[in-house]
Amino acid sequence: MSRIFNFSAGPAALPLAVLEQVQSEMLEWNGTGASVMEVSHRGAPFMQAAAQAEQDLRDLMHIPDNYKVLFLQGGATSQFSAIPLNLKHLGGSADYAHTGHWSKKAIADAKRFIDVNVVCDTSEEGYKHVPAESSWALSDDSAYLHITPNETIAGVEFDWLPDVNVPICADLSSTILSRPIDVAKYGIIYAGAQKNIGPAGLTIVIVRDDLIGHFPDDAPRLMDYQVMAESDSMNNTPPTFAWYLAGKVFAWLKSNGGVEAVAEVNRAKAEKLYSYIDGSDGFYTNPVAVDSRSWMNVPFILANSDLDAEFLAGSHDAGLHALKGHRSVGGMRASIYNAMPMAGIDSLLDFMDQFKAKHR
Ligand SMILES: *Cc1c(COP(=O)(O)O)cnc(C)c1O
Repeated sequence: MSRIFNFSAGPAALPLAVLEQVQSEMLEWNGTGASVMEVSHRGAPFMQAAAQAEQDLRDLMHIPDNYKVLFLQGGATSQFSAIPLNLKHLGGSADYAHTGHWSKKAIADAKRFIDVNVVCDTSEEGYKHVPAESSWALSDDSAYLHITPNETIAGVEFDWLPDVNVPICADLSSTILSRPIDVAKYGIIYAGAQKNIGPAGLTIVIVRDDLIGHFPDDAPRLMDYQVMAESDSMNNTPPTFAWYLAGKVFAWLKSNGGVEAVAEVNRAKAEKLYSYIDGSDGFYTNPVAVDSRSWMNVPFILANSDLDAEFLAGSHDAGLHALKGHRSVGGMRASIYNAMPMAGIDSLLDFMDQFKAKHR
């Protein structure tokens, strides 16, 4: 077997220990004589695994009891519409921070259902920093504030929360579980699973109780948080395999010291990579302002872009895969989610250093 170091932005690497466990359970799961994919979501074995996954996520994130945890389909993108639909009763407009590609998409979808007030917009500079809250044009009467704390493509992250009186709705797709957060400060947290949780096809929504129950009659019922909360996310068939596998990842995180412990590893991984890039005398650069750099997605650009193809081919041969940057940024991007061990960073830095020595 030869497993690569997988720097994919998503669907992304999963912990090897989890995959091995899933492999061992593939044909006969939990005494059912079948795989987890072949049994009813309403049978006791699956119901029990589903409830355990929820409890483990609650433990990991210290989710207060007045929040529902939903296991949905549709991707993070479905929440770009579900949020305005569920919350528009709170007011005629909503505030949105535009700090990257994904917040731009969230804004475009929200505009179909609610007036959007853009509180900051860094699109002109190509998303290189997150403006200080003092410059945000927050409105007095918004239904909620939407933010994207980690922009996966530009590699722009902020870990502070604006001081507002309205519910904060946050797209945490690429940063959930990477560091501790105070869930009680949010109205809604949502994340597609395929970055830092599990396989594609599962979307986690963590929503405060009082925000549930005001859904419009003429909108798709499966986007109504009340319908999904009252049915324990089983109004219709849930993505059972993805839910089961997410549960394995949660258990793996718990047994490794939880979010607090993995955050220390993530900080060390990111610091090592950024400091190598910054110390490379301009051979590699990261375009993001130092105070807005992501722990999870690290873009870097070669001073000589003619070398990009050789870098990608060489790194691929060295077992370092999926380093090609998003076309809107160019260069390279290393996505280093929880499942990326420090050994993957060390291996990448070895390669980068050899490549630099060869081309200086
Ligand atoms: C990947 C990503 C999305 C899109 O997720 P889907 O599950 O494909 O809809 C949205 N927001 C962020 C921050 C992402 O990284």
